[in-house]
Order: sequence, then C-alpha cells, then structure tokens
Amino acid sequence: MVNETEIKEEIKRLTAKGLAGGCLARPLSDAAALTLRINRLKKEKKAVICAHVYQTPDIICGIGDFVGDSYKLADDSRKTDAEVIVFCGVNFMGETAKILNPGKKVYVPSKNAGCSLSESITAADVRALKAGHPGAPVVTYINTSAGVKAESDCIVTSANAEKILRKMYASHEKVIFIPDKLMGANLSFTLGKTPGRDMILWRGTCVVHEKFDARTIEIYRKRYPGLAALAHAECPSDIISAVDFMGGTGDMMRYIGNTNASAYLLVTECGFGEFARIKFPEKNFIAMCRLCPYMKSITLESVLDALENPRPELEITVPPKVAARAKTSIEKMFELAA
Ligand code: SF4
Repeated sequence: MVNETEIKEEIKRLTAKGLAGGCLARPLSDAAALTLRINRLKKEKKAVICAHVYQTPDIICGIGDFVGDSYKLADDSRKTDAEVIVFCGVNFMGETAKILNPGKKVYVPSKNAGCSLSESITAADVRALKAGHPGAPVVTYINTSAGVKAESDCIVTSANAEKILRKMYASHEKVIFIPDKLMGANLSFTLGKTPGRDMILWRGTCVVHEKFDARTIEIYRKRYPGLAALAHAECPSDIISAVDFMGGTGDMMRYIGNTNASAYLLVTECGFGEFARIKFPEKNFIAMCRLCPYMKSITLESVLDALENPRPELEITVPPKVAARAKTSIEKMFELAA
C-alpha cells in the first residue's frame, strides 16, 4: 500500500510531467495512488508499459515508458530487455509487439480493446483478394490481425504508408491496399493512382475518423483566423481536402512542433488533443474530436489488475507459424521505411 507522503511526492512528479487535475476525470491524488502502485509493480515484474497517444493522460504521463503512435511503439518494443510488455493500446498493437518479441509476455489490459479496421478483414479475405489480383503485392495497414499480416507482403503505418507505397509502385502497376478504404482513397489521390484499377481497396473504416464533418472545419476557420487544421489520414477525403495537413499522429505532432499557428484544430481521436496540450502547453488547441471506445476501455485500474493478476484472457498469443510470416511483413516495413 502507499502512504500520504508518497502520494504527495507522486502528485509532484505527475504535475511536473504536465498532468494537471483539469485534464483528468478524477482527483489527481486518486490517479497518483494508482500510478505509484503500478510503477512499483512494473519494477517487481520487470515490465514496461507501451502507451498509445490515444490513451488518457494519466496513463501516458503517469505510467507510460514508451509513448507514441503504432510505428514508434512497435519499434520501441524491440528495444527493451523487459520480460513483460503491458500494451496500453488495442489488440493488434499487442499482437505486433508479441510477433516482434516472441520470448516476452505481452498483455493488453482490456478484453474490449478491438478495432473496427482490424475486425473488418480476415486472412481468408486477403487470400481471396490475392487470387483475384495475381502478382499485386499486398500492402497492409498495421491496424490488422496477425493472420492478415501473415498474408501480406508489407505492413505500413500512417507515418510511412506514402513512402512505402511509392517504393511498391516503382516495381508494380497495381497494389492491394487493405483494410482502410478512406486512407486508401486519400493515398491513391496523393500518389495519382486510380482506386479500383491501380490500387485495390477493402471496405474497412475507422469508427472514429469516418464520422467527422468537413463543414465544421470552415466554421472554425472563420472563428479563429490563422488556424491550422490537421486531420488523421483515416478521415474521409472531403476532410482531407479541407485541412492544411494530413498524417499519422507522429507526423501531426512534428507539424505542431515545427509551426507557429494561432491555434491548431485537431481532427482525430480525443486523446491526441490531450497529449498535444501537455506536450505544447504554450500553444492553442481545438480538438474536434471523438473517443475511440476500444482505446478508452483501458484504465489505470485495468493496468493495475493486469499486473497484479496476469491471466490468460489478457495475454496476447500468436500461433508460431502465423507469427513467423507476419514478422516478415512487419520487418519489410522497417526496411522500406528506413
Ligand atoms: S481510433 Fe479507429 S483505427 Fe484507432 S483503434 Fe480506434 S477504431 Fe481502430
């Protein structure tokens, strides 16, 4: 258990990391009692925590050892010598960490951490696409299951999809890009390719990013002159045409760091807005945001529970043959993105 002096010290540490009471749904002292216990257990169990930027600020600032987008976290997971990885993200991210680290235990501390994109397509669907388009390489967004990755030639994230697709098109006329039809449409436009002919798409969408309304961006622009609007690449094309910058979360963070707009309109999951406010307290943000129910199913309490009672239903496992094939396509991404 933790005592009051320890909680006061922990509150100071969390405050120094930018975690103000205002960005939490509970008193900072309650969060501090939990982060203290989690950080102690991490040491005892030789565990690290990977935290996606869509997680809540108490997880990101309080217990995250590695914080970032799916590309960065996949890369970070390869560099730790911890014996246990607790992934505060969704299942496909935990699977990617397990594929890259077969000797480590990987836990996702929620049974509800799915993803609408990942669940939109199966390995059998990919085999059918390949049969319908022989010779076309399968370029797969990282938001997919291990089985789908195993059927793919190369994995991409929103941070490197354009770069890798350009390399693929250097030697192929047609590419199968799965599963996000909106990101595929945005990328085919950027690359000057025709969806359905040069780029074969699947029907998946992200339940968070598909629902934004482009008309709102114009309203904000009129209200806040000098505004920079940023949207995630999973948004529909009318949103992408209306913003100043499209990219993954890592790209958006770099854009904010390198520019000086009067305010930033963030068209993506809410957690990114909270993270951006903590990282750049001197800048102004408007988060035109939505919550991802899968990401938000993870809490400090569920992380504590996973560390105290690690049990099979929270542990990520991938059959070795699937993992070996999926690893080849993930490593292709690291090679082509370098
Ligand atoms: S934000 Fe969208 S793509 Fe990301 S985990 Fe949630 S449903 Fe999946």
